Amino acid sequence: MKEFVHEWLPQRVVFCTNTSDVQIVKEIRQEEYERVMVIASEFEMDLAQRIAKDLPVVHWFDDVRMHVPVDAIERALEEARRVNADVLVSVGGGSTTGLAKAIALETNLPIIAVPTTYAGSEATNVWGRTADSVKTTGKSSRVLPRVVLYDAALTVSLPVEMSVASGLNGIAHGVDSLWAPNANPFNTVLAIESVGALADGIRKIRQEPDNLEARTDALYGTYLAGVAFAAAGSGMHHKICHVLGGMYDLPHAQTHSVILPYVLAFNSGHIPAIEQRLADVLSAPSALEGLEELRSELSAPRALHDYGFAPDMIPRVVDAVLKAVPENNPRPVTAPDITRLLELASEGGDPRELQTTLERSYGS
Ligand code: NAD
Repeated sequence: MKEFVHEWLPQRVVFCTNTSDVQIVKEIRQEEYERVMVIASEFEMDLAQRIAKDLPVVHWFDDVRMHVPVDAIERALEEARRVNADVLVSVGGGSTTGLAKAIALETNLPIIAVPTTYAGSEATNVWGRTADSVKTTGKSSRVLPRVVLYDAALTVSLPVEMSVASGLNGIAHGVDSLWAPNANPFNTVLAIESVGALADGIRKIRQEPDNLEARTDALYGTYLAGVAFAAAGSGMHHKICHVLGGMYDLPHAQTHSVILPYVLAFNSGHIPAIEQRLADVLSAPSALEGLEELRSELSAPRALHDYGFAPDMIPRVVDAVLKAVPENNPRPVTAPDITRLLELASEGGDPRELQTTLERSYGS
């Protein structure tokens, strides 16, 4: 076992089924919070009202948008201060958790996060905000939710297509943490377990969207993947998705679903022992075959051009990605490599074609 450092983030995690309204009252009473500000998008406000019906709510805030725009943060901050909130309860996906984090960053208010997708932001101390089309991210202990309340019943309404894309976003957290800058043996254990749970969960959700056991498996995997990602940092996969999302506003979960197999194909053969563990948990001869089988079984998002990405956008992305990819990625990255990866991802080509190109260029 090599030398390594792992940082565990302090957080209370509650798993329940159909009782989040009761559990959240306990959490609020335990900490003696008296002035709750609820954050939920207009689409998840019904869910939020069900959960928070017995709480001392002083404000319901619903201006939630993707990528946490700065004007929404300013409005939310103004409201939080006006009503003198002493705790934030976020009910929703990564965009909602992200807004709560942006408020906490400025005010140090504690967050109780009630996630309703598989984005996993609740497990990390990473915040993000967007101003003038530029997305900035950072880390702070202030934004780590004190409590995470997972209730599979709240995710049943997440449409199957979104569940699939979001589940693959969760899987991407796990897989990318296998080679991210602070990858370590603890992250690897969490990541492998997370991929198995998420893969099983979303397979069953695709067949039976109301299956609460499957939804719970997916949330369990989501959390483990988020913990692994928080500790390992952003690897090559996240750097590519971050550039694509920031530059062209591509949808978050779908972009992750498309890009992951190409990055796995690219790094393939460079961490063979870990790759074998990934293959085993996916019950496939190789990790890439396992991921490809899963994506085809799920009819997962496959091509960036379906989301408005065009080949002429590639050169700008390549420059930004090259500056961002971690130096310790298992295999060195060049401009032609990223160009080919993006060409294939744009059209939804076979990720093994990337390996063929690499073999032709480098002999491996
Ligand atoms: P999202 O929060 O925008 O939700 C996607 C869609 O699903 C929205 O239309 C939402 O209304 C809908 N939805 C959510 N829950 C639902 C439910 N239970 N039933 C029906 N519809 C529901 O998207 P996301 O993929 O969850 O999160 C993406 C955002 O999270 C991005 O901005 C990304 O950068 C951020 N993120 C941050 C971190 C981090 O560590 N900071 C990690 C992952 C993602």
